[in-house]
Amino acid sequence: MPDAVPTLSLPSGETVPILGQGTWRMGENGKKAKAEIAALRLGLDLGMTLIDTAEMYADGGSEEVVAEAIAGRRDETFLVSKVWPGNASRAGTLAACENSLRRLRTDRLDLYLLHWPSRFPVAETVDAFEQLRAAGKIRHWGVSNFDPGEMEEVVSLPAGPQVATNQVLYNLTRRGIEADLLPWCRARKIPIMAYSPIEQGRMARHPALAAIGSRHQATPAQIALAWLLRQGDLMVIPKAGSVEHVRENRAALDLRLTEADLAELDRAFPPPTRPRKLQML
Ligand code: NAP
Repeated sequence: MPDAVPTLSLPSGETVPILGQGTWRMGENGKKAKAEIAALRLGLDLGMTLIDTAEMYADGGSEEVVAEAIAGRRDETFLVSKVWPGNASRAGTLAACENSLRRLRTDRLDLYLLHWPSRFPVAETVDAFEQLRAAGKIRHWGVSNFDPGEMEEVVSLPAGPQVATNQVLYNLTRRGIEADLLPWCRARKIPIMAYSPIEQGRMARHPALAAIGSRHQATPAQIALAWLLRQGDLMVIPKAGSVEHVRENRAALDLRLTEADLAELDRAFPPPTRPRKLQML
């Protein structure tokens, strides 16, 4: 049995694993569902119990794959879903949550996120989140793809201190948030959830990562994940559609990058020198 996955604390004090599982593109192709479910179940076995989905993914199909994977294992899962911004009015958020609960075959979400800033005032979406929280339908809420200015607006709301996370694009090739959003969130103890941690698979072929990986008997994807995981205060949610990739991603937790590795990574993927517009995928 491998060591437990390290955890971090949400602002509520609840702990969650720093390595979880993404599910974008799951549920799009019925022929892949069996492998996707097996991958998610192995991830649960290995302690990657945070599962991230969204109503938008495969038009609800990803939530249905997740429902099958966590059947009988709901209590060990920290389940995250997201409301699509077009649904983020007060009534729309309440209805979208009910639909996600039905597809996920559960009575509550552990974390419900606004997928990206919407045309509805964020105060309205947050009011709906608070209503859902009071009713026990969601346990925490947060946001995704919010820049520092948008985060300022959230935390200034009466319920603002409840914001549990901001899920954003972050990996070695997308370091922009280090100039502003990441320190802003760290100062307020709002943990970031890093999405597309291997750049949707593109970093799995990167020569700079392959060179460092060869010194650790590790793959480029594992080096990309290890670099995020070593920070210790981020949730990292790679999507893996096969048990082989899940095993590999889990093993990234055991890698120890050296100071020389880190310096080499900074040369290959320089940190930002000034704030830039928040990137999204
Ligand atoms: P990702 O996790 O960076 O990459 C997923 C891709 O990498 C898949 O093609 C996967 O292939 C491949 N892969 C996984 N493990 C690998 C390994 N060990 N070696 C080689 N290739 C590997 O990209 P992502 O899916 O965009 O991001 C992760 C999750 O973040 C999403 O699934 C979703 O839950 C969330 N997300 C949120 C937002 C947002 O706006 N909030 C946006 C994007 C993503 P296989 O499927 O074949 O294993």
